[in-house]
Amino acid sequence: MSLVREKDGRRLHIKSKLMGESLVGKEFLDTIEQVPQEKLFPDINILKVGGQSICDRGAKALPQIIKEISANREKHKMLLTTGGGTRSRHIYTIGLELGMPTGVIAKFGSTISEQNALLVATLLGPWGGVQIEHGDLVKLPNYYSQGCIPVTHGMPPYDLFALPPARGHIPIHRTDVGTILLADLTGARTCIFIKDEKGLYTDDPKKNPKAEFIPEISARELMERDLEDVVIERPCLEIIQNSDVIEKVQIINGLEEGNITAALKGKQVGTIIYKG
Ligand code: ADP
Ligand code: MG
Repeated sequence: MSLVREKDGRRLHIKSKLMGESLVGKEFLDTIEQVPQEKLFPDINILKVGGQSICDRGAKALPQIIKEISANREKHKMLLTTGGGTRSRHIYTIGLELGMPTGVIAKFGSTISEQNALLVATLLGPWGGVQIEHGDLVKLPNYYSQGCIPVTHGMPPYDLFALPPARGHIPIHRTDVGTILLADLTGARTCIFIKDEKGLYTDDPKKNPKAEFIPEISARELMERDLEDVVIERPCLEIIQNSDVIEKVQIINGLEEGNITAALKGKQVGTIIYKG
């Protein structure tokens, strides 16, 4: 980049392609040459331990999941994220009843998801579990070189700046979105959502016994089908579509032993939502 002096000779500018642009002009954005996104950590696996679906089950679910994750630690580099679950929903309800804005509700969600990150990291402690903050993500290789399994909370750090949704004040970017954003940031090998159902169905299988299982589907088709309820937060689908580095994400039932190991091996268990 070269320096240019204004005609009157008084001001100096750094010449760049974006100079003098609003950065929102449609035609201009089309002319920017796209450099392929670097995959920062392409050998890592991101696993979200569900809040409502897993953490809230406590002793009935977590020990088995911890056992399976720790058994995989020598073969796979893993970065865990956690959801908030029922305690988030409780404080959301209180906040909503009191007319709190979306940003405050989102901040509540972050702190609960952080509690679950501490819980999971503590349980994984004997096998190198360590709770990390979002700012520590650039240090991931250091954690792996010491045999650690880093655990961070899944809520994207919009916090008080959370976007108000079209309806109501429940933030639409929660811990599934945070997990997908981490997959985009890192260019991870896999992005696996550990939940309590086999995967995606045509409707919530807990409420609709006629719901049919969908083993794989593109993010675009899932958006177009506009199902009444889905297994991951809706904005995840658009993020998958827009990401340069995410090819697919997988939703598995962590309550069934062997599924985490199979997904880490790249086997088709649960549901695959792929870019396309
Ligand atoms: P997490 O604990 O990761 O936040 P959630 O409880 O928010 O997970 O989401 C998982 C739940 O979503 C499942 O337990 C299921 O009851 C529900 N669900 C809603 N719609 C669907 C669907 N179309 N397919 C599968 N599960 C669904
Ligand atoms: Mg959820």
